[in-house]
Amino acid sequence: MRAEEEIAEERELSRAEKILAVAMVAFLFLATWEALFIALDEIGGMLPDERVLFYGVSIPVAMVSILVAPRLRGFKKIYGNVLMGYGLLLLICSVGMFILDCLPEVAAALAGATGSGAGIWYLRKKYYTPERVMRSRLSKGLCPFCGRGKIEGVFFCPECGRRVALKCERCGARVGVFDKFCPMCGAPVESLSAPRLRRSP
Ligand SMILES: [Zn+2]
Ligand SMILES: [Zn+2]
Repeated sequence: MRAEEEIAEERELSRAEKILAVAMVAFLFLATWEALFIALDEIGGMLPDERVLFYGVSIPVAMVSILVAPRLRGFKKIYGNVLMGYGLLLLICSVGMFILDCLPEVAAALAGATGSGAGIWYLRKKYYTPERVMRSRLSKGLCPFCGRGKIEGVFFCPECGRRVALKCERCGARVGVFDKFCPMCGAPVESLSAPRLRRSP
């Protein structure tokens, strides 16, 4: 593998790239699905069963996409992921059409559940960061590290033993390890020589 390919492989996708990739999957899928309906209008009458057209086109296209996808490596890997997503979606929808042919409500509900699930996953991933968890624990007066010990007025968590506050070097007041300024005298905590967030375990 060439050096720049290795770099591209390691580089994490930005959010914009992920959104574009998902959009590409959706557009490719919609284009295929709509084209199938157009074709159905044209030649549907000649077919013994209209489903033949959907299976006959979407399953081979899905198979080819899924087979080609892993060959795209390095810089082009994201297109491989798009192809894989497209192929899987096509496969799921054509097989799903067969299984849920007379149950469109079930298909719609399942699609809704999948969409909602994906939405939750995205929001969890976006908002469930260690920093946010720590902040929410602090706002409840709990230890930011373990979330169990009550830390109001104390310097060490009674549950996990980690340092949760320092003494202000200027006025001696208690300053939380996540505070930026002493709440009593306003001294910036960065200037205190006590352990900071990043250095504490
Ligand atoms: Zn704790
Ligand atoms: Zn102070």
